[in-house]
Amino acid sequence: MLLREQIANRKKHWVRAVTACNSKCLFCLDADTPRNVYLEEDEVKAELLRGREELDADKVIISGGEASLHPLFPEFIRYAKEIGYDRVQTVTNGTQYASKDFYERCVQAGLGEITFSLHGHTPELHDYLTQTPDCFKKLMKALIRCVRDPRVITNVDVVINKQNVGVLDKIVELAISVGVTEFDLLHVIPQSNAYRNREEMFYDVREHLPVLQKVFRLNRHPRFYIWTNRFPVSYLEGLEDLIQDPHKMLDEVNGRRFQVRRYLDEGNQLDCREPDRCKHCFIEPFCNTVDNVVKAQNEDDWDNWWVGNLEDVAKAPHPLPYGCQRIGFKINSLADIQWDAITPGVSVCVRPEGADPLPGETVPGTQFIAHLPNQLDLWLSGTLPTDVSVRIELNRQTAEWMLEHREMVEQHIERVHIHQPSHEKLNSAVALDVRNPKSFFEALALPVSVSGLPACMTPGAQLVDDPKDLKADIFDSETGRLDIRPLARYHVENRYRGKSVRCADCRVNDRCEGIQINMIRDQGLRLAEPLETGEWADSAHEQLMRRWPQPPPRVHDGRSAQPVADSLPGFAKPDTAPHDPLAVIAKQVELKKRKRAERRAKSKAQLEQA
Ligand code: SF4
Ligand code: SF4
Repeated sequence: MLLREQIANRKKHWVRAVTACNSKCLFCLDADTPRNVYLEEDEVKAELLRGREELDADKVIISGGEASLHPLFPEFIRYAKEIGYDRVQTVTNGTQYASKDFYERCVQAGLGEITFSLHGHTPELHDYLTQTPDCFKKLMKALIRCVRDPRVITNVDVVINKQNVGVLDKIVELAISVGVTEFDLLHVIPQSNAYRNREEMFYDVREHLPVLQKVFRLNRHPRFYIWTNRFPVSYLEGLEDLIQDPHKMLDEVNGRRFQVRRYLDEGNQLDCREPDRCKHCFIEPFCNTVDNVVKAQNEDDWDNWWVGNLEDVAKAPHPLPYGCQRIGFKINSLADIQWDAITPGVSVCVRPEGADPLPGETVPGTQFIAHLPNQLDLWLSGTLPTDVSVRIELNRQTAEWMLEHREMVEQHIERVHIHQPSHEKLNSAVALDVRNPKSFFEALALPVSVSGLPACMTPGAQLVDDPKDLKADIFDSETGRLDIRPLARYHVENRYRGKSVRCADCRVNDRCEGIQINMIRDQGLRLAEPLETGEWADSAHEQLMRRWPQPPPRVHDGRSAQPVADSLPGFAKPDTAPHDPLAVIAKQVELKKRKRAERRAKSKAQLEQA
């Protein structure tokens, strides 16, 4: 899994060359994008260059529509190699590459990886789904040529939908029979054509689990690589290695950045925001995070304005924005803090790297974050200074210390809060997380405040909210607005959780956020143990009912959109959000078409008069 994470996290950049396509797939996610736009040479090259210079990507995927339709496609490949991309990839319906001449031109220009979209094991099924006669024949011709060519990496993607899910194994078998060993299996999502054709596209995953699992298990064979794309986490119990890398969410959000921007700056909700759609949407957890962040801005409900390091403290706005009372930062040694320099009325949340004793002097409301056993030794062995609390990050070392010094935790129980931190990367979860936290809390057996873990894993605890840490760098420094990429990153790093299908039987299911995604990838969905009966199930249910008399609203339940939040202090509220350049081009194309039609009608009328 760590190797898969490395591959998935390779810095790559998607560059669209066209929106035109010579197929009309029933599940096309791009059908609402203005069609038949061929981007100008300069625009495509500028975007290719941006990927190298700004994003430091060493792999580029030149995409469409069907990118190969662009007359300059081989030139774009050549340019991408010239500016230093190590690998140039494309995703295709394969039709253009049926021509040997075209294929050779692309490969000689530097095309190093081709992903063929194969959706059926027969011409009838594939051509029906792509709504393109002869598509299957051309694709197979190109696929066989490519798979035999050692210069090119060949793989296949399949959009799994109601029409082909029953024969997914046969589609994969067909591709294997010609030599393909790598597959990307995409779950259909409720956007564009896929939603329009939903009766024909959406299927019940449960009904088809045997065939899906049969194909997914192929990943255990050393010769094959299976990747899933947008496949619901809850169905991957026992196959957690196939959970899509959480960072893919960044690409999903990037693809919708203009819509999200419009929501944040103009309050116009995403066009697709309808409970029926959101229910099936892989991006729903992100949309929910956006709502929660904006809601907390609007309600001044954040606690800690997290600036990063001590030297950044001076740059914090005064008063702190969005309800924050503490300024948060990391520091090497607690001795470096000059407490009398802290602005009066502001408190502090500090995570020291080293283990120093707590200072005699602090400011009221200070919170210290412990992540090392030595820190706990020093801080909890005596009396805590007045009005100071300790957040203990749960990891294998702090857990061991707490079990050995249970009486110290108990002595300070009112001022100690155990928090399970989330990990952006799987390797941190593997290195740090307690194996089966439920056993730890059973052994600790204290009613200590806990956050970051679901109730089934914290028997005997007091269930409290996650710390409300708002990072300063989630805002754009030029506009004072939430910046979409860091916002998506915040979601991936802090709010991305998942559940098992078995959670449907749990009494607190509708008030539970689930398990952190990298804990699931590391330890498996088996960690989820539905609470049904017993003392802890009753207590957890009662605590969560008290905390949320109504289940927390979710986008897929029809939660209302949030009003626009204020910008950071000193920045104006935005008037309008930037527009999608593709939509602008499409409008121009539409206008030209209309004018042409008017001219034609006018000259026809003149002709008739004459
Ligand atoms: S969750 Fe709903 S609003 Fe968000 S992207 Fe999905 S369909 Fe659109
Ligand atoms: S809903 Fe699932 S993850 Fe949440 S407490 Fe219940 S079993 Fe655990």
